[in-house]
Amino acid sequence: MQSRWVDADAEATVARYGREGVGRDLALRVYTTRLLGRDPKLVLHGGGNTSLKARMPDLLGSEVDVLCVKGSGWDMANIEPPGLPAVRLEPLRALRAREALSDEDMVRIQRANLLDPMAPNPSVETLLHAFLPARFVDHTHATAVLSLVDQPDGVALAADLYNARMGIVPYIMPGFALAKKAADVFASTPDAEGLILHKHGIFTFGETAREAYERMIEMVTLAEERLKRNRKTVFASTQLPQRVAPLAAVGPIVRGACSLRNDKVEGDARRLILEFRTSETILNFVNGAEVGRYSQAGVVTPDHTLRTKNWPLVVPAPADGKSADFKRDVVSAATAFKDAYRAYFARNNTRCNGIKKALDPLPRVVLVPGLGLYGLGRSKKDAKIAADLAQAAVETITDAEAIGRFESITEADMFDCEYWSLEQAKLGSGAEKPLAGQVAVITGAAGAIGTATAKALAAAGAEVALLDVNESAAQDKAKMIGGAAIAVRCDVTDQASVSAAFADVAEAFGGVDILVSNAGAAWQGRIGEVDEEILRRSFELNFYGHQRAAQAAVQIMLAQGTGGALLFNVSKQAVNPGPNFGPYGLPKATTLFLVRQYAVDYGPDGIRANAVNADRIRSGLLTDEMIASRSRARGLSERDYMSGNLLGREVTADDVAQAFLHHAVALKTTGDVTTVDGGNIAAAMR
Ligand SMILES: [Zn+2]
Repeated sequence: MQSRWVDADAEATVARYGREGVGRDLALRVYTTRLLGRDPKLVLHGGGNTSLKARMPDLLGSEVDVLCVKGSGWDMANIEPPGLPAVRLEPLRALRAREALSDEDMVRIQRANLLDPMAPNPSVETLLHAFLPARFVDHTHATAVLSLVDQPDGVALAADLYNARMGIVPYIMPGFALAKKAADVFASTPDAEGLILHKHGIFTFGETAREAYERMIEMVTLAEERLKRNRKTVFASTQLPQRVAPLAAVGPIVRGACSLRNDKVEGDARRLILEFRTSETILNFVNGAEVGRYSQAGVVTPDHTLRTKNWPLVVPAPADGKSADFKRDVVSAATAFKDAYRAYFARNNTRCNGIKKALDPLPRVVLVPGLGLYGLGRSKKDAKIAADLAQAAVETITDAEAIGRFESITEADMFDCEYWSLEQAKLGSGAEKPLAGQVAVITGAAGAIGTATAKALAAAGAEVALLDVNESAAQDKAKMIGGAAIAVRCDVTDQASVSAAFADVAEAFGGVDILVSNAGAAWQGRIGEVDEEILRRSFELNFYGHQRAAQAAVQIMLAQGTGGALLFNVSKQAVNPGPNFGPYGLPKATTLFLVRQYAVDYGPDGIRANAVNADRIRSGLLTDEMIASRSRARGLSERDYMSGNLLGREVTADDVAQAFLHHAVALKTTGDVTTVDGGNIAAAMR
């Protein structure tokens, strides 16, 4: 591992923050914290922290000794000076004399001693930093160190490798007791350059930011070099099917099995989003004949439990063309996982006097022999975090097994971390959005109604895929929506294009729960004289386009087995023909019937089919020029033309989007048409 310290960058950081009144030491603390945070072999998603002991003026201007320590909610890779809130050091140090300290009191005392009462909560490892004398203290969960110490004889291996340069602390859960123990170990080895925490991570010390950082690099490098010596080959591969099923077919089956029916709301389910990863190392790991042993041994460092749970779900290798067998096996493996998790909770909650509240029993990592692994989460962001940690765990366990045998902390220790209130606080609280965990596909997504609908569904918590024949326009809209929104090229008049687009979505998120079939275009012609070719082209897009998208979505929904919503943008033309609009109205009328057919055929599968009939929306179908010419032809102002309805109000794309959102959450409604036209009695459904 190379040091990434660059003098010029360090000085530039000092100069930049100096202009804002930040001192040299704190600026360099920010600089090296970022260096650590940007290396995934050292720090991943909150798995580390740093501190600085300094003198600073309090709010009233008196100089006091403080500990500037990483605040929760800050990412080390992008930390800024306010991400290292200053806490009065003496009151923290005085706590070392106590026999015990509750978590609640610890948090209260830390907050009460912040120089700035508006600052974020200091790290859960604050006291450990405070009790150590070094000015700069760096802490990471470096994978190489974990491979070395996540062993039955990890303490001896570390002692042998570091040869008294590092103090060695036995495993204790983070918090007050660990802080005291670490301080005691340091007191008995005062020349140590840092501490190794058995089955947890590494601390290094320095008088300067550079010294603490470069010691971290040196100590981790020593571990890396040790891992290269006396390696045995891991892992012997199991027998795999000749041809493995494609990812797009595997995702929906895994996703459906890793969901949970809501017992309180019929038709509702708790769903997760998937993030797939594969590599040579991952395949070697998941294909191993003994994957059932080493993958189930526990977490590589305690704070992973929050994001990955303690064990991944292992499913059988999916043979191509045998999806029914695979689904049966995955459902049974996932059911066993949920049962085992509930039993684990019950067992350990009893030990804790029954005060804990169970988290959902769904896996957060799934290993698929022959393919790779999935991270799972309530959002794409959380799924990616789980996948990153799972990947780091695969690397750590692989190296651990190559030099010995991977061993984690005990089940009770894992439970205490998973259900530690201070860890749970990292996930944040607050009500979830109504479509959290759901995937929505919108066709014709680059148009006015499509974009407005994608935006509304994303705001309600869904992950959205914007499908459009104009891929670059869809990309612009996806970027505007932000988050994990994706754009996929899709021509709904072409079966191959539709199949490929839905496969892309299933690969990206693991499945589909909501389809908004919106792509369409208007053709005109007096029906007795119109060229048949025009009528056929309109049917291709305005009827078959909907059928192709709905069929592709239904196949995925059936594989998931958690129901879904098929939502169609029909038109008032379907029930109220306008002069010369036959080529547009006829296929739309057929699509209205299609909605009812899907409602009838797939109601038993929990798949709802509903339509929105909208009229006179400014869009690609009704451009500003068309509005100008039509209103002129009728002798109306544009405003009167656009609001020529019972309410006298112009209807917007956002109004239509809200109707689709309503249908996405209306679990007891199917075969319904919602009219969004400001009131047009001739187009009323009857
Ligand atoms: Zn830690």
